[in-house]
Amino acid sequence: MAHIFLSSPHMSEEGYEQAYIKEAFETNWIAPLGKNVTEFEKEMAEKLNATKAVALSSGTAAIHMALKAVGVQQGDIVFCQSLTFSASANPIVYEKAVPVFIDSDERTWNMSSTSLQKAFEQYTRLGKLPKAVIVVHLYGLCADIERIAAICKRYQVPLIEDAAESLGTIYKNQYTGTFGDYGIISFNGNKIITTSGGGMLLCNTDDAEDQAQKVLFWATQARESARWYQHKEIGYNYRMSNIVAGIGRGQLRVLDQRVEKKRYIYEYYQRHIGDLPGLCLMPMCQDAYSNCWLTTIQLSDACKVKPVDIILALEDKDIESRPVWKPMHLQPVFENCDFISEVEELHITDEKMGADNSVAGGLFRRGICIPSDTKLTDIDLKRICIIIRDQVCMKNI
Ligand SMILES: *Cc1c(COP(=O)(O)O)cnc(C)c1O
Repeated sequence: MAHIFLSSPHMSEEGYEQAYIKEAFETNWIAPLGKNVTEFEKEMAEKLNATKAVALSSGTAAIHMALKAVGVQQGDIVFCQSLTFSASANPIVYEKAVPVFIDSDERTWNMSSTSLQKAFEQYTRLGKLPKAVIVVHLYGLCADIERIAAICKRYQVPLIEDAAESLGTIYKNQYTGTFGDYGIISFNGNKIITTSGGGMLLCNTDDAEDQAQKVLFWATQARESARWYQHKEIGYNYRMSNIVAGIGRGQLRVLDQRVEKKRYIYEYYQRHIGDLPGLCLMPMCQDAYSNCWLTTIQLSDACKVKPVDIILALEDKDIESRPVWKPMHLQPVFENCDFISEVEELHITDEKMGADNSVAGGLFRRGICIPSDTKLTDIDLKRICIIIRDQVCMKNI
């Protein structure tokens, strides 16, 4: 039987992507820019109701540009959600700024507003307000965005929303990525829609046009307007190509369909394994419509079956699954960074994984992402559920 992926590229059945690429070939707009890039930005901004969008070479590049746009410099503090993929935090280090990691809450899995408030109070006392806050909508789950945005506003610190995994997630009639001063999207191969690789920066500030112009300037080698190549600042080669943007335009047309399928997959798992003792699915927030990018499960500590047992049982049948992101505050590369949590006494709970008793550490230790590919059939889903059910029931008897 064919290999089952966690999440893989899924081009439209209608061939929209190829039509846009074909047009680019016929007009010889292969590179650098061209109609697909500007139209992709316009179409995305319209779809999400964002003020301005800038197409870039990756989601990571978009976070980097957002940090530069808010003026993050060497030695500045940036508060960042700990439970995330490393790409949320790496650009802080590119700018020689200092990440301070914030714990999650059980209700949303994302940044805890209580821990964020605690971090603000602690760092205000030190006289070191952060230059920015990076919140993530992990697996398409919506963060506690209203409270987090309100806290940032109170301290007048810009908010950057990492919506790399949550394109299509809606909170109270508004798309994620448009709540913060800046939002970022990724079109990496495993994301809900893909351009093979790419990203986008959403600018939502009052001066969004000016901010977007600045980002465009940095992203295209910081070339001053002169006949010769004149540079006053360090630039980057971060712009999206016209071919890649063509794939994106085609994919955007099927985004709603992809969200529907991802939600169907989540609901299928909820119906077929949601009742197993000691197992629960990721939480759905009342006010949000999640894109359900990856369905993720938690096994309670009382459960005899461990995440690794299920991962291995699936792997044995050529089915991909993986642990929840390992929090940044537990990563060797960030071991000297501060971590703010509501949990008072932090200690290691699993030597082998390097997990601790923080909320993020617990979600990591108990969590598994299960196949959520939009090409999955009911037959595939049934097979996966039977394997998981067998593991849980066998071990718990
Ligand atoms: C994928 C991802 C990114 C980075 O996006 P790229 O396009 O791969 O650079 C950033 N943050 C999160 C949470 C992601 O999942």
